[in-house]
Amino acid sequence: MTERIFIGVAWPYANNRLHLGHVAGACLPPDIFARYHRTRGDEVLMVSGSDQHGTPVTIRAEAEGKSPAEVAAYFHQKFVESFTGLGINFDLYTTTGTANHAAVVQDIFLRLLDKDYLYKDTVSQPYCVNCRRFLPDRYVEGVCPSCKLPGARGDQCDACGKPMNPAELINACCKLCGTPPEFRETEHFFLRLSAFEQPLLEWVKEQAGHWRLNVQRFTKRYLEEGLHDRAITRDITWGIPIPLPGYEDKRIYVWFEAVIGYLSASKEWAQISGDPEAWRKFWQEDCKSYYFIGKDNIPFHTIIWPAMLMGYGGLNLPYDVPSNEFLTVEAQKLSKSKNIAIWVDDFLSRYQPDALRYMLSVNMPDTSDTDFSWREFVRRNNDELVATYGNLVNRVLSMVQKHFEGKVPEHSSLDERSMSMIARAEETLKTMDELLYACRFKEAIKTAMALAAETNRYLDEKAPWKSVKTDKPAAGDALYTALTVISGLRTAFYPFLPFSSERLHHFLGFDGTIEADGWKLRRPVPGAAMNPPEALFIKLDDSVIEEETTRLGLTLA
Ligand SMILES: [Zn+2]
Ligand SMILES: [Zn+2]
Repeated sequence: MTERIFIGVAWPYANNRLHLGHVAGACLPPDIFARYHRTRGDEVLMVSGSDQHGTPVTIRAEAEGKSPAEVAAYFHQKFVESFTGLGINFDLYTTTGTANHAAVVQDIFLRLLDKDYLYKDTVSQPYCVNCRRFLPDRYVEGVCPSCKLPGARGDQCDACGKPMNPAELINACCKLCGTPPEFRETEHFFLRLSAFEQPLLEWVKEQAGHWRLNVQRFTKRYLEEGLHDRAITRDITWGIPIPLPGYEDKRIYVWFEAVIGYLSASKEWAQISGDPEAWRKFWQEDCKSYYFIGKDNIPFHTIIWPAMLMGYGGLNLPYDVPSNEFLTVEAQKLSKSKNIAIWVDDFLSRYQPDALRYMLSVNMPDTSDTDFSWREFVRRNNDELVATYGNLVNRVLSMVQKHFEGKVPEHSSLDERSMSMIARAEETLKTMDELLYACRFKEAIKTAMALAAETNRYLDEKAPWKSVKTDKPAAGDALYTALTVISGLRTAFYPFLPFSSERLHHFLGFDGTIEADGWKLRRPVPGAAMNPPEALFIKLDDSVIEEETTRLGLTLA
């Protein structure tokens, strides 16, 4: 029985390169999930794109003397390269800069306005007389009223995490010129969020069975504090225009339009696929929608986006919002501003993508923050990927090449130990099926690695490298059994380690694709030709630890 699965991946701001925190938090989990569901035979649509609007982009552009469009285009291209290098396989990765996106946003704007879920009101906003412009929240800086540290922004204090209103800042000044702003009246559109408080409370209660506890708790607390209407337009010129006359100097605020990207990207994908109505299957018919995000994005995906969808009507609400906690680097907070991030393109220029995917999967910040350290990376790469899994594959496939003419060995009636080894492989795939279905990725990959470790014990007991000289049929039985389990490992690791799984698929001499084989144990056919193996993973020297730690500007403890 196949299912239809929509996967939305958080849209990164196109103002910097991709770092490991993004990958661990929001990019790798959905790719694992999508590959698993595709292998299961489900109909999957996975979309995302670069968020090219918003002050993070304009601030960078102003600092570099470029246009926001140039900055956004540059980093969008960087993201695409990093995703390709990492094997993050979107059905469509687009941007919020398309005409299609603007049209979908404006349609939602007008429908919500028509249904009275949007209304106009006057607000007081910081205005810089020197720059002669209204200042978005992030353009105002000052001393935090809570922790008293300087450098707090108008939207948030990074030092203590307090969400801010620009009027609360002490000694507030314009980030561009340093002048203290005055507050002026300006007219804006508001989303009537308060109207959705009850429907959302009821809807969230129904999700209790399958949402992660951190997501449930956060959302409930947010709702119980009461929902306030929010301004969805700003006095800026970079963003989606308001589709009404008289508002030429204002734009739709980025938090309102970026989430609409999930829908607009689905429509763009449908256009490109040649069936412009195909998006409806994922939005208006039976389909489970998953949104993979970092924890700082929870309210936008469990409250604001669902409220917008309820208001618009006739579109599927999120089924699950698997939100991750944060990844720290070398036990420090991963922060781009403090410049101790590890950039994906740097990483991929020196190491294998599967090595990173493995590290971030076994160490995924799914229920609590986790830490990336180079020492642990080298250890897990060498002890687990290379020694436990890679060497297993290599010694079995090499023996088949050497002693069985590179063909899958014939087998007699397998003994009980061998039969139970194959049963264990089938069981592993079944257990992983349940774990992956429930987005429990870390447990799933550990289950796969446990099967590799058990296969090594099996081989040590059978010692086919000895029996091949004295009892060749016995060696054939052991190698056939090991090959069968390795075929299962190829599938089990595929969502996590697609590059090495695809190479292994080729070494095994299999035709077709792993996804086409389905989420089940494919048994090698005795006598079938295999291909000469090469090492799946590269062993790393311990010197990597010091080299990379120095590169981060840290000294080894
Ligand atoms: Zn503070
Ligand atoms: Zn100014």
